[in-house]
Amino acid sequence: MQYISTRGTAPVLSFEEAMLTGLARDGGLYVPETIPALSADDIRSFRGQSYEDVAFRVMKPFIGDTFTDTEFQEIIAKAYAGFGHDARAPLVQVGTNHYLLELFHGPTLAFKDFAMQLIGQMFQKALGRSGNRVTIVGATSGDTGSAAIEAFKGLDAVDVFILYPNGRVSEVQRRQMTTPTDANVHALAVEGDFDTCQGALKDMFNDFEFRDGVRLAGVNSINWARVLAQVVYYFTSAVSLGAPDRKVSFTVPTGNFGDIFAGYIAQQMGLPIEKLVIATNQNDILHRALSTGAYTTEGVIPSISPSMDIQVSSNFERALFFAYEKDGAAVAQQMEALKSNGAFTISQGAIEALRETFVSGRASEEETSAMIKTAHETMGELLCPHSAVGVKVALDHQGSIPMITLGTAHPAKFPAAVEAASGLHPPLPDRMADLYDRPERITELPGDVSAIQAVIRERIRT
Ligand SMILES: *Cc1c(COP(=O)(O)O)cnc(C)c1O
Repeated sequence: MQYISTRGTAPVLSFEEAMLTGLARDGGLYVPETIPALSADDIRSFRGQSYEDVAFRVMKPFIGDTFTDTEFQEIIAKAYAGFGHDARAPLVQVGTNHYLLELFHGPTLAFKDFAMQLIGQMFQKALGRSGNRVTIVGATSGDTGSAAIEAFKGLDAVDVFILYPNGRVSEVQRRQMTTPTDANVHALAVEGDFDTCQGALKDMFNDFEFRDGVRLAGVNSINWARVLAQVVYYFTSAVSLGAPDRKVSFTVPTGNFGDIFAGYIAQQMGLPIEKLVIATNQNDILHRALSTGAYTTEGVIPSISPSMDIQVSSNFERALFFAYEKDGAAVAQQMEALKSNGAFTISQGAIEALRETFVSGRASEEETSAMIKTAHETMGELLCPHSAVGVKVALDHQGSIPMITLGTAHPAKFPAAVEAASGLHPPLPDRMADLYDRPERITELPGDVSAIQAVIRERIRT
């Protein structure tokens, strides 16, 4: 299996190379050259299997010979052993024909753990074999950073630097990043918003001297291995509702388009998904883009669902690449326009292709809060604000086909917003109950890439 860039000119890589690299050298994102198909019988045979067994079978065709079968089974087993629920991704019914996929039973209480725990194990195995070291730099609106620090802390071959927007993450998110004591993890509080952090990260990847000098590796959702890990739960949940003999739709609370793009891959592999519903908060660029065909950035307005406060949605580029029938030059042109004008117009053919799979909706701040309250009263579920955006938009799109809404974080990760909406204070699970007592380590920095690079150069171990 070979990986190609969405902008068409970067070197073609193996799975291992694409995983260890992150962003392609032409500024694009890696995608598989062809998407492997599973037959209806293959999918049917997932019924009754463990999450780990399905994970192995769904991901195996994508990893080539990077790991032996035994190695890959061990990697998967270790990745999910620390989850607080045996099913890993349990599916609960919240209404007629409506289900919530609980993706928040991992060590940092958000769906990011599914991918990050897996790539932590994969990096460890691959680097241990080659004797190489890498410097992981990630940008986060909160959940990616805590999941990355949790997955990579204490590993010998890796130093981890996480850029987060100072003052714009929840206290639980911040403490999950700043309280681990391992010497190889560094939480950097950057002046600005998430797009400032993500922009600085992209600049570092495009600075080849720096990139090669520190052996930069990316674990943002631009990393293909993360998207791949998220394909698995589309299969486990759909199969538990009768796939491939019954269609399902998914509603996905979306920011960087990584989680929902994994659903697109599952569909292309043969899972009968009717629609993938993009659910945005008031930062609704993806909803506007799908409705009008114009992708036009505006300022980020901080919301109660901060992990979706985004205007430049990185993984949308992957969806565009397939909508443009893998025309890297066309994608590169659009991304140039985005960089210089803050906007681009999706071609008629490409927007029609996108609309075959994707539909979209948005939830305002008031609607999100009201949904948290109503869901608790009528569904027996205390939702995090992101999941509430999803449930609200899902209800707007429900029909006769079963709808699965992705529950992306545990309510205790966003206690202030949940309490304001419902009057209930969601407690942290016992295993992290002392989070507020642990000392924090924070480095504050301006939103300036050279200042960030200087700190990284100074702190990496050699
Ligand atoms: C990251 C995140 C999202 C958005 O996921 P994308 O893959 O960036 O679209 C939604 N909800 C929560 C809780 C998250 O952490």
